[in-house]
Amino acid sequence: MLIKYINLSQQLPASLLTSLQTVKGFDEKTFTTVHASGAQVTSVRINPGKKNELSGTQLAESLEPVPWSSNGYYLPERPSFTADPLFHAGAYYVQEASSMFLEEALKQSCDLSGPLRVLDLCAAPGGKSTLIQSLLSEDSLLVSNEVIKTRVGILSENITKWGAVNVVVTNNDPRDFQKLTGYFDVIVVDAPCSGSGLFRKDTAAISEWSEANVQLCAQRQERILADIFSSLKPGGILIYSTCSYSYEEDESICDFVVNSLSATSLRYQLKPEWNILETTAARSGAFGYRFYPDRLKGEGFFIAGFRKQGDEEITQAYSFKNKNQLSRATKDELEAIKKVIADVSRFSFLKWQENILAFPASLQDDLFLLQANLYIKKAGVSIGVVIKAELIPDHELAMTGLLSADVPYYNADKETALQYLRRHDIKCDTVAKGWALLRYNNIALGWIKVLSNRINNYYPKDWRILNK
Ligand code: SAM
Repeated sequence: MLIKYINLSQQLPASLLTSLQTVKGFDEKTFTTVHASGAQVTSVRINPGKKNELSGTQLAESLEPVPWSSNGYYLPERPSFTADPLFHAGAYYVQEASSMFLEEALKQSCDLSGPLRVLDLCAAPGGKSTLIQSLLSEDSLLVSNEVIKTRVGILSENITKWGAVNVVVTNNDPRDFQKLTGYFDVIVVDAPCSGSGLFRKDTAAISEWSEANVQLCAQRQERILADIFSSLKPGGILIYSTCSYSYEEDESICDFVVNSLSATSLRYQLKPEWNILETTAARSGAFGYRFYPDRLKGEGFFIAGFRKQGDEEITQAYSFKNKNQLSRATKDELEAIKKVIADVSRFSFLKWQENILAFPASLQDDLFLLQANLYIKKAGVSIGVVIKAELIPDHELAMTGLLSADVPYYNADKETALQYLRRHDIKCDTVAKGWALLRYNNIALGWIKVLSNRINNYYPKDWRILNK
């Protein structure tokens, strides 16, 4: 422990500590002590869409709640998440506690009960997107975007496991959204940053930190915000966050938003016991919220909210062509779908390449518009293909709550569940022949197909657990 103390305290960049001396709430002594202690905080956010099935599991039992979150909990120690089938089933998301404050920021910024179009611009691996999705109404749309191609896969995987139908995953540069002028009600920019707030979790990042990188990040943050701002509707909400302590990436950026992008700052109500620190930006007086690990149980984080100025009543008309990539499922295909999906009335069933996808019917035109303007990686839920009047189900469908109660399932014990997730052969007291769900703790892990002499494992190959 002592070795850890000395190592980590020596590693914190002196120039970072010097630059923070004038930043509100920074206390070098307690800050370096908490970094040197080697203490780690682990927290998860439970998926409300799968919450009911968790009763009786450790997750549901007497864990300490994250004070500013309705589904966040601290774990007493960091377990092996890989060895927990519920982790793979999307029953919860492992998320740093401070960043769960996004829930409060959204609740205090807008009416989440109405239909909203929300963009999570910098979304991979999906922590904020899964949080936002859980707060939105069924008829709201979440566009979850990641510019870096190699990071979109993990984003799609996490969105799939979350099981939501009203999410579109895109792979676009912020400026591509300029084609959607005034489209979004809410934009969340969880910006790429210098990352000092995560030094406790990722000590390797300490040696990569530099003042020059802080400057580069700040310039990029301004560029991202300037590029995306036109796609926010007048009166719409912008939420900006970083995991950096640097004033240049936090309050200075708030000054930029207020002074250069014509937005007004939002002030959030805080409970004193949260120990979150309200700051004001020097030039504009914009409010920002700082999370210091020596003041609360979470990592370094900064968040600020804004409302775009302008007339909310002006509605934008969009013209677009459905490039004919999305045709409707045929009558026969619908008949096959009805045998598996409990309530088809809420959805549009559209053909996307080989597959049929389910998407909220009320949002169908939005999907066509997005498809005409952006690179879509995933839209709604891929439910599978219909061959000879039978739906060959897609893994994505297993992750949702759309399935009818008639779909056969098998409840696996933990070892069988892990064997399944490793994509090994499994044995179970067989249910009827054909497609069935393999469930653990009543939460679906994926599809199996029961044949006369064996059970085929349809867990996605790319997601299988590789270790023993
Ligand atoms: N919101 C994510 C979550 O909660 O899981 C974390 C996002 S991380 C702080 C910032 C993201 O911005 C990264 O996924 C990164 O690839 C992306 N990014 C990097 N450069 C970008 C740029 N120029 N424009 C938009 N996003 C960028």
